[in-house]
Amino acid sequence: MPMAMPMPMAITLLFAFVLAGGVSSAESSYVEYNTTQRIVPGKINVHLVPHSHDDVGWLKTVDQYYFGGNNTIRGACVQNVLDSVISALLEDQNRKFIYVEMAFFQRWWRQQSNAKKVKGKELVNSGQLEFINGGMCMHDEATPHYIDLIDQTTLGHKYIKDEFDQIPRVGWQIDPFGHSAVQAYLLGAELGFDSLFFARIDYQDRAKRLKEKTLEVVWQGSKSLGSSSQIFTGIFPRHYDPPDGFTFEINDVSPPIQDDVLLFDYNVQERVNDFVAAALAQTNVTRTNHIMWTMGTDFRYQYANSWFRQMDKFIHYVNQDGRVNALYSTPSIYTDAKYAANEQWPLKIDDFFPYADKPNAYWTGYFTSRPAFKGYVRVLSAYYLAARQLEFFKGRSTSGPNTDSLADALAIAQHHDAVSGTQRQHVAADYALRLSIGYKEAEKVVASSLAFLAESRSSTGQGNSVTSFQQCPLLNISFCPPSEAALSSGKNLVVIIYNSLGWKREETVRIPVSTDRVIVKDSEGREVESQLLPISNSTSRIRSHYVKAYLGENPSETVKYWVAFSVSVPPLGFSTYIVATTKETEGPSSTISTVHAYEASQNNSIEVGQGSLKLLYSADEGKLLRYVNTKNSVSAFAEQSYGYYSGNDGTDKDPQASGAYVFRPNGTFSIKSENQTRLTVVRGPLLDEVHQQLNLWISQVTRVYKEKEHAEVEFSIGPIPVNDGIGKEIITQIKTTMTTNKTFYTDSNGRDFIKRIRDFRKDWELQVNQPIAGNYYPINLGIYVQDNSTELSVLVDRSVGGSSLADGQIELMLHRRLIHDDVRGVGEVLNETVCVAEECDGLTIIGKFYLRIDHIGEGAKWRRTVGQEIYSPLLLAFSEQDDDDWMSSHIPTFSGIDPYYSLPDNIAIITLQELENGKVLLRLAHLYETGEDKDYSMMASVELKKLFPNKKIKKVTEMSLSANQERGEMEKRRLAWKVEGVFAGEESKPKAARGGPLDPAKLLVELAPMEIRTFLIDVDYIQMLGG
Ligand SMILES: [Zn+2]
Repeated sequence: MPMAMPMPMAITLLFAFVLAGGVSSAESSYVEYNTTQRIVPGKINVHLVPHSHDDVGWLKTVDQYYFGGNNTIRGACVQNVLDSVISALLEDQNRKFIYVEMAFFQRWWRQQSNAKKVKGKELVNSGQLEFINGGMCMHDEATPHYIDLIDQTTLGHKYIKDEFDQIPRVGWQIDPFGHSAVQAYLLGAELGFDSLFFARIDYQDRAKRLKEKTLEVVWQGSKSLGSSSQIFTGIFPRHYDPPDGFTFEINDVSPPIQDDVLLFDYNVQERVNDFVAAALAQTNVTRTNHIMWTMGTDFRYQYANSWFRQMDKFIHYVNQDGRVNALYSTPSIYTDAKYAANEQWPLKIDDFFPYADKPNAYWTGYFTSRPAFKGYVRVLSAYYLAARQLEFFKGRSTSGPNTDSLADALAIAQHHDAVSGTQRQHVAADYALRLSIGYKEAEKVVASSLAFLAESRSSTGQGNSVTSFQQCPLLNISFCPPSEAALSSGKNLVVIIYNSLGWKREETVRIPVSTDRVIVKDSEGREVESQLLPISNSTSRIRSHYVKAYLGENPSETVKYWVAFSVSVPPLGFSTYIVATTKETEGPSSTISTVHAYEASQNNSIEVGQGSLKLLYSADEGKLLRYVNTKNSVSAFAEQSYGYYSGNDGTDKDPQASGAYVFRPNGTFSIKSENQTRLTVVRGPLLDEVHQQLNLWISQVTRVYKEKEHAEVEFSIGPIPVNDGIGKEIITQIKTTMTTNKTFYTDSNGRDFIKRIRDFRKDWELQVNQPIAGNYYPINLGIYVQDNSTELSVLVDRSVGGSSLADGQIELMLHRRLIHDDVRGVGEVLNETVCVAEECDGLTIIGKFYLRIDHIGEGAKWRRTVGQEIYSPLLLAFSEQDDDDWMSSHIPTFSGIDPYYSLPDNIAIITLQELENGKVLLRLAHLYETGEDKDYSMMASVELKKLFPNKKIKKVTEMSLSANQERGEMEKRRLAWKVEGVFAGEESKPKAARGGPLDPAKLLVELAPMEIRTFLIDVDYIQMLGG
């Protein structure tokens, strides 16, 4: 292409000279700009893609952005964007626009007149207005769980399908701060997307890709699914705005084309030259003769004509000039052009984390920013999953509460300035409020479904249940009014425990009680082993403070103990337990734990654990020494400690502070116990606990359950002191003596594990500027390290940042409080506080992580099974009864699937939902990767008939991941991209394993490692009781 340039350029210059010479005598009149241009083969085609990047909440709330409120913060109004874009598109049928965020589009569309809707649909049908990405928001890629990503995309895609009968073709993740493997293969290829585009990759990576023309790649995000789930991926050369000099919002400074000969400053040729120069510059870093210009940026097109007028003119004059070809385009048109070019593309595997935009600016702080919000999102994600199952078992009601508002709130919370923790404080509060409103409604669904399922069929008419169930969303801080109320009034507490997983679970649950004389019975009336554990001072303080802060009330101070008891719960079902008070004269009661405090002066070691797992502590140092599992004979040195990084304040040579996005440590400090009492050990028949209060603001409880082979650590961190003027980022470290060769593994959105090597990147020679922040990765499920004999795994209860900064070591960042802004736009410091009355103090975080050491090759079973159980904790609901008749008047145990069936250990139901049209949406996920486990990385199968025992399955249709098209149709349309180099011969290799087509008679679903299959099922409801 460059060879052909000189001649046409000479001709054009001559032409331009003639044109300019005639200016003085010409008349100014209407110019009909020719915008009809399409792709011209053989020329450089500049695809102008008009777009507006509309954050679903960031500096303002989603609604403020929509209607243009709070404009002192930022003049942004999405309503203006959509109003003016639609008018501008109607003016010229060659103009195009893409729209991405369905949360905003829905808000706009529902308020349009029918006449406008007819026109809007015409624009969509003609391709002038194209929905791309199409989720409710442009989700973050580091901090959400893959189930949330699927749900939020499904919601948006369903809306587009229902309202417009369209199926988005392109992924458009232009702003998220790094890109995940799960985005590429799951939220890309498995949706049927033909391509994925974004802007933000590491600055070193970008420099190399620019040089080597490898900004456009074929990305294989999954080791297990390989080339069967790859996607063409385009990284923008710079950012998602236009080249310099081509931005045209009304206040922008780019020179507009002035083509009225009667006016001064006529500049057509100058601007055409600018255009051609910018196009050639981009051609130099791009393969094929197609380049894309992203014509827009944040909240642009509030007056759309300001942009379209200029683009009309550029297309008109640039094409008259003829050196390059300019056209209105969309990413779909661009993708098709790239595909038609029949080029071979470099292969990209793994992901694009971490992201740095400058040497000292690693965007790895947001992996942990706002840990309470991240925890809230995760808890409600699992709750939403369980609530939909229960809603389905009862039958979705056409009126009354449903799970829709929780779905909507969770969807918006996945935005790349929401769960990421990079929004302003009032916006974080807005997301949390939406979630809590959604929760309240879903809570009613759960309560009424449980009541319906628990009541004897004979006593229920048309689902008007009489039993009332309460739940305890603040159970983690020991606040559970129904348990207090029932027991203190002498009634029995009924606890229903629901399990949303497809396998039976045996676990220990705990509820706060106000007495030390309780007894727990199962549904057969048998006493269940239980243990009373004192509620620690730290928990009591938090309970009292946060109940006041959240509910505006003083909790009763009567709660003294947790009662822990073992439960057994069937798959997708519930069990019932009764907790009753007993009088001293009445015989058996729950075992009260022994409590022993160890002082720093005591020079002995302490062993805890009633089962096969033993933890050894040193009393004088107050720390973990050794991990021993007598069942699998693993014995290892293990230490666990806390520390913090002081956040860089940005006053040195490089003014980069640690902030909401960026992690820039300025010194590492360990936190030693300040307490004379180093350890308090609580022992009992079900579990042992080791309580450690390190200082005024860090405490933890390590639990070793008799029946479990892992340790559970519950930490409480905060308020982080910052009155010394230094922001702090709190970490915990687990140390072993393993030789792990700089290598560790972190998950991608809770799904595939990706190999990480310290101070190393696969795609380029890493220049290490930030040896700590630059080795941090997002963790949603867990992190592990291994040597030739053992592996150490840590699982988390929410998204956090973490790393392995030394061999044998794992580090998690658990909380951060900073007092400088990191200058990436949010313009606020990450300093979360909680206020009671007028008094505010730093936020305290309570969370958990879990650790286990295995023989090499045996850790996956625990990571996957327990990982799924951590994601889906047992759901507790409470009722009360006066006497012993609960079991006779209620159904004490229930399973939504065939009572003799359970899912294979490597399969999870990640969606079971009745849609408004009565169809059932079912998603099954294989939990293991290829080669991950010798037993479970195998093809597995699920018998649909056993999943729906009381229903007649009429029809099963396999769908794309977001359920907006039939899987078969999607596969037929899939583009087969060519991969360059050594991978060109891949086609001859066997394809990745996938489950076979569903046999309509047997209804057996096969799933290969890491496969997720989505089905729409038509069922007939069979009356559960014939008579
Ligand atoms: Zn954004």
